[in-house]
Amino acid sequence: MTTTDATHDPGLTSWVASANGHAEFPIQNLPLGVFSVSGGSPRAGVAIGDDILDLTEALRLGLLAGEAARAVEATADGTLNGLMGLGAGPRRALRAQLSHLLAEGTQPRPHLLHRSSDVTLHLPARIGDYTDFYVGIHHATNVGKIFRPDNPLLPNYKYVPIGYHGRASSVRLSGTPVTRPNGQRKRAEDPTPSYGPCRNLDYELEMGIWIGPGNDLGTPIRIGDAPNHVAGYCLLNDWSARDVQGWEYQPLGPFLAKNFLTTVSPWVVTPEALAPFRIAQAPRAEGDPAPLPYLSDGADQATGAFDLELEITILTPKMREAGLPPHRLSLSNMRHMYWTAAQIVTHHACNGCDLHPGDLLGTGTLSAPDPTGLGSLLETSRGGKEPVRLPSGEERRFLEDGDEVALHARGRREGFATIGFGPCLGTVRPAPGI
Ligand code: MN
Repeated sequence: MTTTDATHDPGLTSWVASANGHAEFPIQNLPLGVFSVSGGSPRAGVAIGDDILDLTEALRLGLLAGEAARAVEATADGTLNGLMGLGAGPRRALRAQLSHLLAEGTQPRPHLLHRSSDVTLHLPARIGDYTDFYVGIHHATNVGKIFRPDNPLLPNYKYVPIGYHGRASSVRLSGTPVTRPNGQRKRAEDPTPSYGPCRNLDYELEMGIWIGPGNDLGTPIRIGDAPNHVAGYCLLNDWSARDVQGWEYQPLGPFLAKNFLTTVSPWVVTPEALAPFRIAQAPRAEGDPAPLPYLSDGADQATGAFDLELEITILTPKMREAGLPPHRLSLSNMRHMYWTAAQIVTHHACNGCDLHPGDLLGTGTLSAPDPTGLGSLLETSRGGKEPVRLPSGEERRFLEDGDEVALHARGRREGFATIGFGPCLGTVRPAPGI
């Protein structure tokens, strides 16, 4: 069980001045990532205010000991896979020693820092496999209503954490352009499909779960042990070509409508950093079945959900020209998951499927129950029927070329420091010629 400790003390400040009161990366967060400086190779770092502390350099100077040193030694290949595979012990030791190393009152060591604006960030892990779930029940209900107004949720939804195998090769870091995909599209009035640029390009507001130690083939992960296999969290945008999706998805589900790009935020926010924002899983609605025993765990139900604000903004070329700020399209929350992260992990491995350090799971689109918190344009525009009005006077049914979409996540709780995830954004580029 991850609980709060001295590293969460809201009174804790850092000798890195920009960290104090920082909206996302105060000393209470300490998210892990991979960066490189010009001409250098990728290496592990921790975000602190507007800077990044070089973990390899801290290790070389003998500033980390024991399990914390072991955690950083495991990043020698320039990824966090090895560190993720070590599990919670070394990760917690690293957090404790970093908190001390960066705290006000400790000897300032500015030579360990790089300005975030001066470095290149990289994917934190080599992603062996990526799986996308569908556990946002309000999203599943809203989308289901478009196709089945009277029966939006299929009968398996409240028994099975629904998911599909995504494509790891096209997961990229925030800032990667979104090239509008070409594909087969067929409108209801078209007698046959045509091949061309996606007309209904959309985003999906999701959280990503980074897998820790994982399991051997044939050996399930018990629900009580599942939290030990989560190394951290990120934001995830599952860009979606709705017209391609509508034509291709039967009978085997999502394929080219999804795998042209998935964007993640760069920092791995650890389960330890998120301890203050843990909440009980929302009770199931009257009449809903209880989870089957292999997905049931008292501690998981008591503390396995998260209260994290999730926000989507859009900035169109016209808004940019007019000097307008990004416009909020949605404010949702991670609490709208019908299944917890532990239940997702346990279900994925229940048949013996092996999960590996650095594997990535998407939660599915996390819409709020009300119209101000919808996680996709498919829902906001009701399948493209009701356009969204923007402050520039423009309308959007789906995304247009030049539009920038950004996702943000924040943990905010009375008595604790506010933390964030860093942006998860992308700008739409025109489709390549056909
Ligand atoms: Mn998705």
